[in-house]
Amino acid sequence: MKSKKGLVLVYTGNGKGKTTAAFGLALRAIGHGEKVYMIQFMKGSPDYGEVQAAKYLPNFQLVQKGRDCFVKKGNPAPEDLKIAREGIELARDVISSGEYDLVILDEINVAVDYGLIPEEEVLNLIDLKPERTTLVLTGRYATEKLMEKADMVSEVKEIKHHYKKGISAQPGIEY
Ligand code: ATP
Ligand code: MG
Repeated sequence: MKSKKGLVLVYTGNGKGKTTAAFGLALRAIGHGEKVYMIQFMKGSPDYGEVQAAKYLPNFQLVQKGRDCFVKKGNPAPEDLKIAREGIELARDVISSGEYDLVILDEINVAVDYGLIPEEEVLNLIDLKPERTTLVLTGRYATEKLMEKADMVSEVKEIKHHYKKGISAQPGIEY
């Protein structure tokens, strides 16, 4: 096998397509027989299509580390802090195990912005990454320091969104 260079990839911005881009990468990696681990911060609902699809995919683990309700920005509930902490500890174990080719930390940027996780801890995860592991961090409000440290940053920019026409969240589109 050709030697692989793991990367740090960030999907941020206010438009739709960050989580699904990360999931697209997961599919691509699985197609190469790679092992993928995805942790979703701030999400706790089994209704997400990706949670259901994960059951059919080989070499793919998806774990949700959030509650199925809104987190108050700047004033998170103790339970939210506890689950986010579990998520970061799980991420640390998964990344440092070296067992996974692709590790996706979905909405981790939002968890930092909401004060659930210190920015420093996310930056430390990058330092833990084995050479060949690729790390994907998604969510609005990626910090300057994270973007500096990343190899690739894509900002998804909202031009328009169907929500503004009153179309509510659709299965297969939003979740
Ligand atoms: P997706 O999960 O579809 O890839 P995303 O990860 O880029 O989107 P998030 O910022 O995580 O989007 O938001 C979660 C969901 O909220 C998305 O599925 C999206 O359709 C919806 N959303 C995104 N932008 C808006 C908006 N401006 N107004 C209302 N809903 C939005
Ligand atoms: Mg998302």
